[in-house]
Amino acid sequence: MRAVMFREWKTFPTIEEIEVPEPGPGEVLLKVAGAGACHSDVAIFHDFEADPNQGLMSPPYVLGHENSGWVEAVGAGVTGFEVGAPYLVYGPIGCGHCRACSRGQDTYCEKPTDVGYLGVGLGRNGGMAEYMTVPVRNLIPLGDADPVAAAPLADAGLTPYHAVKMAMPRLAGGGRHALVIGLGGLGLVGVQILKSVTGAQVIATDVKPAAMARAGQFGAVTVEGGADQAEHIRELTGGRGVDAVFDFVGSSSTIALAQATVAQRGAMQIVGIAGGSTEWSFFTNPYEATLTNSYWGTIEDLYEVVDLYQAGLIVPDIERFSLDDALEAYRRLRDGELDARAVVVPHS
Ligand code: NAD
Ligand code: ZN
Repeated sequence: MRAVMFREWKTFPTIEEIEVPEPGPGEVLLKVAGAGACHSDVAIFHDFEADPNQGLMSPPYVLGHENSGWVEAVGAGVTGFEVGAPYLVYGPIGCGHCRACSRGQDTYCEKPTDVGYLGVGLGRNGGMAEYMTVPVRNLIPLGDADPVAAAPLADAGLTPYHAVKMAMPRLAGGGRHALVIGLGGLGLVGVQILKSVTGAQVIATDVKPAAMARAGQFGAVTVEGGADQAEHIRELTGGRGVDAVFDFVGSSSTIALAQATVAQRGAMQIVGIAGGSTEWSFFTNPYEATLTNSYWGTIEDLYEVVDLYQAGLIVPDIERFSLDDALEAYRRLRDGELDARAVVVPHS
């Protein structure tokens, strides 16, 4: 089968012919329906290097941590999974037994070195291929929802959903405001999540006018960049500031925007991994405002994301690519040339 291989740090992936994998005990073989290209993949093959922090994501392996597919075959001991049934893949893979994994939060597994990788497409072969293997614990049923269009939910849906849930106490009630910075794959789904699960006014910004226009169609009020951007955002909140900021960029300038606009008792949720930094002191921070990061989400969160999708409340914008064009999808993602989530569709 063809697969998108990540062979070396700081090296663009290649398409290679490899063996169809065999599902191990407790796993299924999935025929891949959709494989989303996430900006984190660009960080993996373009920015990261061999350092101890990234050891569990060391190449080589097949990329793709945002997947859906149909059961093709089952491994030893697997019952209750019918061939042809569609599933979304929860990508993180922890030990399955520690406290973090026991609450369905494999992202924060306490024994990741025992596992040896972080998840599908993150140290273990992922879904940018015709087939992939997945532990049954990581399968979320899609019912009659379109599995190709659903693929981005596995990361571009789950990650903003988890961040929004963390900030939910700040957004519950009347007169609340949320700010979304960065309206790409994650941010545009983030706007839809905020509109469907909170009553907050959603303010959104991006450097791309087309992305802002799309957020506007999803019900956000958009604010352009520029010297008076923070002041303009504060005006929209009646001067009080934003109750929760979701930063899907994570550069020093976007974290600064979060700090300049957050309300007292507000939340700054940094999701983007651009690696920006900031100074924090007792005197620069609005009282009781929190600054936190978050990584992906939980298995339970992903069930809830699928519920929202099946109810028609969140629908990721996608652009389909054949497997042969997967490298072009990554190139356009890297160069900021996509207007929708690129989803590689290996079987069309
Ligand atoms: P994307 O390329 O689809 O979208 C990024 C968007 O940010 C683009 O629309 C771009 O125009 C915009 N942007 C860039 N710089 C900006 C700036 N200074 N101000 C405003 N907008 C700006 O990327 P994506 O796949 O949606 O991922 C977004 C970020 O989240 C990436 O850093 C990615 O690596 C990260 N990510 C984090 C997690 C996590 O678990 N924390 C999971 C997935 C992705
Ligand atoms: Zn664990």
